[in-house]
Amino acid sequence: MVLGLCDGLLIHPIIGKKKAGDFKDEVILKAYEALIQNYFPPERIVLSALLTEMRYAGPREAIHHAIIRKNFGCTHFVVGRDHAGVGDFYDKEAAIEIFDEFEDLEISPIAVKGDFFHCNICGGLMSERTCPHSPQHHIPFSGTTIRNMLAQGKEPPAEVMRPEVFQVLSREENPFV
Ligand SMILES: [Zn+2]
Repeated sequence: MVLGLCDGLLIHPIIGKKKAGDFKDEVILKAYEALIQNYFPPERIVLSALLTEMRYAGPREAIHHAIIRKNFGCTHFVVGRDHAGVGDFYDKEAAIEIFDEFEDLEISPIAVKGDFFHCNICGGLMSERTCPHSPQHHIPFSGTTIRNMLAQGKEPPAEVMRPEVFQVLSREENPFV
C-alpha cells in the first residue's frame, strides 16, 4: 500500500529490549528479509535496524518514533492501531489521534485504522472500514491469534501470513522473547 503512495519504503524495526511475547530481534529481521526477497521490489526498500528499546508508551511513543524517522529523512510515518501499546492500557486509536495535536512534526502520519482480517469475498486484506461483508467470511488477522497459532506449531492461513515468513518462524525453537 505504502509503495503506491511513496517512492521508497524504509523498514525500520526496533531492535532491542522488548516485553515477553514479542518476537525476538533476529526473528524480526529474518522475517523481513524473507518478505522483501519474495514480495517487494528490492530497489525501493531499505531494511535497517533501529537500535533502541520499546517503552510501550503508546501515543507519546508514536510521536517519538515519528520524530526519529523524520531524522532519518522520511516524509511519512505509518502508524497503526495501538502503536507501542501494551495489553488494553491505551485506547486503540489514541496513537493515531495524537498526531492531530502535533501539526509541526514535519513528517506526515499515514494512519492505518481498524482491525485487519482477510475477507474471503473481497479476496484480500481488509478492515471493517473497507469491507461490507459479515464476520463469517473473515479470517482474523490479530497478532494474538497468530501468536497463539505459532506457539502451538500451527501454520496460519496463507491469507494472513506469507508461507516464507512462516518458514522463518517455524525454524526457530521459540520465536518469542
Ligand atoms: Zn469483504
